[in-house]
Amino acid sequence: MAILPIVTYNDPILRKETKPIQENSESLQRLIDEMFETMYNSNGVGLAAPQIGQDIQLFVMDADVMTEEIDNEDNLGPLVFINPEIIAKEGEKIKMEEGCLSIPEVRDDVTRPERVTVSFQNRDFETEKMTVSGWVSRVIQHEYDHLQGILFLDHLSAFRRRLHRSALKKIQNGKLETKYPIAAKKVPGEG
Ligand SMILES: [Zn+2]
Repeated sequence: MAILPIVTYNDPILRKETKPIQENSESLQRLIDEMFETMYNSNGVGLAAPQIGQDIQLFVMDADVMTEEIDNEDNLGPLVFINPEIIAKEGEKIKMEEGCLSIPEVRDDVTRPERVTVSFQNRDFETEKMTVSGWVSRVIQHEYDHLQGILFLDHLSAFRRRLHRSALKKIQNGKLETKYPIAAKKVPGEG
């Protein structure tokens, strides 16, 4: 297993549409293990395939570190979402602070629906359906966005985005030090 470098903010792969995964394979299982290792190594609670340079419909998460502080939320442990689809969004729109391993050191409040129902295949390729709220719902919505080429910054107002401009420049220019490996940025046209 290996810790994979995480691609950052201006890498075009983060804006690409992802492809459904057709079948289980040894290499897919290895990739899932490596994504978990990469996520835990960077103290993240979720990681989507585009963030490690793969344009496929896959994300992993483990929100237990957030949910164990809250009595009424279940600890679900590590979860794998293959070909996920959010089929319902319900409840009030709520604000929660988000960050992203691909946008180091930038955090802001994002408004999203409280509860979602997601259908997906687990790592054994069995179809599952889950309705979740709280942190689990939040992480699922954030990671699901990654598979559509959407970043949490896209949910902010132009004003809030402007406040992060210098931090984003730093990321773009490769001037940011992170505690976990990041991939050298790819600029379109340079291959
Ligand atoms: Zn993210």
